[in-house]
Amino acid sequence: MTQLYEPIPLITSTNSVNEVHLLIGTGEDSCSQTIRKAKSILKSGASPIIINPTSQSHYKKLSIEFAHDPNFKLLNRPFQLSDLTQLGRKLVSNIVDRVFINLPPNDTLLARDIHNQCIKLRIPINTFQRPEYSTFTMLPTYIDPKGSGLQISVTTNGRGYILANRIKREIVNNLPSNISEIVTNMGQLRDQIINEDHKILLNEKFFSTELSINKLGYGLDNDSWESHKFNKLIKEFEMTSKDQKLKRTRWLSQIMEYYPLSKLADITIDQLSDTMASGTTNINTNKKVTKTPTDDDDFASIPSKQQKLSPSPSSGEKVQIQLQEKETTTKSKGSISLVGAGPGSISMLTIGALHEIKTADLILTDKLVPQAVLDLIPPETETFIARKFPGNAEHAQQELLQMGLTALQNDKKVVRLKQGDPYIFGRGGEEFLFFQENGFEPIVLPGLSSSLASTVVSKIPATQRAIADQVLICTGTGRKGSLPVIPEFVRTRTTVFLMALHRSEELIDNLIKNGWDGDVPAAIVERASCPDQRVTRTKLKYVPQVIEEIGSRPPGLLVVGNAVNALIRNEYLNSLDSSSSTSKYYMEEGYKAFEINDLSKLF
Ligand code: SAH
Repeated sequence: MTQLYEPIPLITSTNSVNEVHLLIGTGEDSCSQTIRKAKSILKSGASPIIINPTSQSHYKKLSIEFAHDPNFKLLNRPFQLSDLTQLGRKLVSNIVDRVFINLPPNDTLLARDIHNQCIKLRIPINTFQRPEYSTFTMLPTYIDPKGSGLQISVTTNGRGYILANRIKREIVNNLPSNISEIVTNMGQLRDQIINEDHKILLNEKFFSTELSINKLGYGLDNDSWESHKFNKLIKEFEMTSKDQKLKRTRWLSQIMEYYPLSKLADITIDQLSDTMASGTTNINTNKKVTKTPTDDDDFASIPSKQQKLSPSPSSGEKVQIQLQEKETTTKSKGSISLVGAGPGSISMLTIGALHEIKTADLILTDKLVPQAVLDLIPPETETFIARKFPGNAEHAQQELLQMGLTALQNDKKVVRLKQGDPYIFGRGGEEFLFFQENGFEPIVLPGLSSSLASTVVSKIPATQRAIADQVLICTGTGRKGSLPVIPEFVRTRTTVFLMALHRSEELIDNLIKNGWDGDVPAAIVERASCPDQRVTRTKLKYVPQVIEEIGSRPPGLLVVGNAVNALIRNEYLNSLDSSSSTSKYYMEEGYKAFEINDLSKLF
């Protein structure tokens, strides 16, 4: 087989329960390395057999160390090739499941013979410091000492174990301190949901033939889930019974993807159910959310606008309600601001937004507002993240507005923090009207919209002489999930589609049917300005195929137009049409252009 590029080994996590692993030789110096290896083999549920220890002292050490472990075997004799086919489990015709060689360097010949035999028998083999005689390598691995199940392994693929180990430590040091609790909690919720909701679905006769647990998993159950379908449209008021039953599954997968990592330890099963009153999440976990009588979670029973102002209006009291409205406006010291928080990086937050974050009594935020911005909220400030998940958007919106209104009536300073700019596809206008009609006119602070910031951070000049002389910002998802009105194709225009990636196939089909050039450059920009930003350049016609291949990393948007490649000199871009699929796109990851580490220096 000809190699087009340097091979990248597959990393797997192997189920080794009941396997037999053969360790040949115990190395030169102390046998501590062999002891560590045997211990991890035992922990994995396999049985190690050590054969041919290098010295009598190694033999003694090992006998003492594992004296009481019935799954451990030590054979003090030279190795024979026939051991490979005799010491294993009956189930696999006595062939051992895995081989580790650590023989003195002068035994190269034997190592080569064992390697060759293992290849023939398809036994995975690792030879100490001899990659040419190995089919797998052990990676430096962090195992969560608190037993959550989290493991982190790093490889540099032959560029140094020490370096990989150092990188691993760096990653581990940067994890939130409650990472074990996060993994444990998410694992328990996942298990509970799978047991309660999925099993019910599978038991329903008409589903059982076409569905498996994995298909229901929304990424909860395996890692080959189709992340590009992650934000699939669910019609909130027309959910099928299957959609209803998968609601908690969908919410949990969305929470895992969007919520600040460190807060995942505190999510409870009740917060995944819409029967829970005041179901938004207080991300400042040291604070308790107090439930007020108006915090009614049942969408149908949320009172109408006028009712909300009156503590206990009786029917037909219109005049009185209006009077109360006036009174509330003059009396209440409550204030509300709708604040744009920018696309992600705190370098793109306005000073006005920062001021509002620091002086609020209550912050109502969207799930898209990223961690770096949320981290600026003082710990004592009550904060809620909207539960806007597919199938719950309307409900969550009502819930949030109601919560804001109640706080305003209690003289609080409420800050409604919104991703990007409040008026660009952010329902800012609707929220403005809601609060205004209820007697509290919001101050609105603009934010840097992801639609324009995304172009800048992905090296796209939205306008550029002779290339693009206009910009259009539009949505890929119209009202109630319909397709939006398709704009005309203008060759000198840069078009930004928000909320479009999860339904790119349908959208691009329609664009092309309506005269758009399928060969025009397109960029998929995800998590713009966040550390895990990803920019994927391709052509418009390939976008759905590329998204299917690379999966999704929400939130993301699509930029289309010749400006996409205006600043890029790259050989890949010229070969996007070749038949091999890897050359249909060109990807760049990470955002490091500008970071502010110490805000205090600014003032
Ligand atoms: N008011 C926001 C947009 C809200 S609509 C603004 O002005 O940015 C939500 C959509 O915005 C997402 O579906 C995605 O298309 C886009 N979006 C928001 N933040 C983004 C980011 N950091 N990177 C890429 N797209 C983003």
